[in-house]
Amino acid sequence: MVEAQLEQNRTPLNSLATKIILFVFLSTFATALAVSWIAIQSTHKSLRGVVDHMYPLALYHTAPRANSWLRAAELEVFGLARRYDPSDAPDLLTSALANAARDSLFLDAIVAFAADGSVRAQSGPPPDAVSWRQLAASRARPEPGLQSVDLPDGSRALAVWSVPSRAAGNSGFFALLNRSELASLLETELPDAASALAIVDGAGRVLVAAGANPPAQVDLAAMAERDEEHIQGYDVGRKRIIGVSRPLEASDWHIAIQASFDAAFAPMLTVVTRIFLVDLIVILFFSVLAYRVTAKVIRPIENLSESARRIAQGQIEIEIPEVDTHDEIGLLTCTFNDMIQQLRRNHDEIETANRNLTDRNIRLQQLNEVLNQLSITDGLTKLHNHRFFQDHLTREIKRVNRTREPLSMLLIDIDDFKQLNDRFGHASGDELLSRIARILNDAVRESDLLARYGGEEFVILASNTEIEGAEQLAEKVRTEIAESSFILDDSLRPLRVTVSVGVAQFMGNRKRFFDQTDQALYSAKAAGKNCVVVHEDAEKQHQKKA
Ligand code: GH3
Ligand code: MG
Ligand code: MG
Repeated sequence: MVEAQLEQNRTPLNSLATKIILFVFLSTFATALAVSWIAIQSTHKSLRGVVDHMYPLALYHTAPRANSWLRAAELEVFGLARRYDPSDAPDLLTSALANAARDSLFLDAIVAFAADGSVRAQSGPPPDAVSWRQLAASRARPEPGLQSVDLPDGSRALAVWSVPSRAAGNSGFFALLNRSELASLLETELPDAASALAIVDGAGRVLVAAGANPPAQVDLAAMAERDEEHIQGYDVGRKRIIGVSRPLEASDWHIAIQASFDAAFAPMLTVVTRIFLVDLIVILFFSVLAYRVTAKVIRPIENLSESARRIAQGQIEIEIPEVDTHDEIGLLTCTFNDMIQQLRRNHDEIETANRNLTDRNIRLQQLNEVLNQLSITDGLTKLHNHRFFQDHLTREIKRVNRTREPLSMLLIDIDDFKQLNDRFGHASGDELLSRIARILNDAVRESDLLARYGGEEFVILASNTEIEGAEQLAEKVRTEIAESSFILDDSLRPLRVTVSVGVAQFMGNRKRFFDQTDQALYSAKAAGKNCVVVHEDAEKQHQKKA
């Protein structure tokens, strides 16, 4: 009952194996999660530190260099202005400008303007889509120095404007800076692959830039904002940018460094991916390990439980497969097998004892039957004895009281038996009793009961027999005995033996039945023996019927 209930409640979820695997999975998962969180946090913190310190530090080093490059470019133009004047001979000017442009690292092209704005001399042709005149007109400030120039095509150039002390009007030198040279110098200053360096004007417009995704515009105000020691990010369109700037000596220019937030923290992604992969491997590894260990542990336990269940059902012929480990499970399996063997031995012993008991019981029953038979059998004649007759009569009376069938009794007594006994001896008397018993037994029907009534008297209880039939039976018995010859002594002389028979019919009273049979027998003796007397009541009854 309990077992069936347990069996019913058994689901894969409440199996021990699932619980252990789930436990290992969850604990590994939780541990991995905690370790990963700590790792991610510290990685983020260290990356933050790098970003917070690396970019300002890079500017700290790059700003003086940028200052010196720009200053150098400025000085080169100022030097020209000191040595030459736009009113000098054009040939002289042209070769001087060409030489200066060729020798300079930062100057691309140099032009000398006359006071009316016309070109006096040039180092070479102006850059594409730019006319010197336009350039001169578009310069931002009249005072000498570095300036950015908006080009008609929308791009911007860097230029140095210088006015010699002797010059008149707007005449002077105008040099375009080699932006690509500046950019490649900036390139060498990049602290990492994710960032971009830029020289910007006061409005944040980029003049020169290098690095990853160089911007066209930077937000100087946003860059200046700092939260404690952290550089603040700011959004440009959908992109989050992180960066800092530092003012340069030249006019209101700044040098700025920036990187996209994602790029700056890109190592995070790598770290998180790796951590995730390691977590996955660790969790899988431990789950598989748990599965294998559990299977190793659970299988013997399941074997044990299955065996216990079968033993409970009475199958003790089973044997649990040996476990090759020497741990508690191995020990338990060994103990279990020993227990089953002991159980089997006990079972065999009980079986043998049971068989013996059954044999003895059968023997006892047989003996009992013999005893029973003996108790209702007369030892000498092997007929039923007096006691059995009485019991049988009781049953018969009960039956005829119900069925109203006729029931008759014949009491047969050997005539002068005492004399025969005296004459031939007791043993011969016994022999004679046995012979007469056999004759009587042959004479009666199966339904009749023949018994030794006692001494030399026999009784026949004739079932379903009217007095007439009983009388005929009595006569038959008497005649057969009278006509038989018995040899009782060595003289071999045949001897005649007679019997007297009293007959009565059951009239509803047991005692009267006996008395009447007895009286009839007495009458037969009185009438000279060797005769049959039917009790007069039975006789009257018979005549009435007739
Ligand atoms: P009656 O004709 O009047 O019947 O005379 P009887 O001699 O037959 O009757 P009685 O009652 O005087 O004697 C019966 C004798 O039967 C007495 C006893 O010795 C003898 N007897 C009773 N039982 C046994 C027995 O088992 N074996 C032998 N051999 N004799 C027995
Ligand atoms: Mg007698
Ligand atoms: Mg007698």
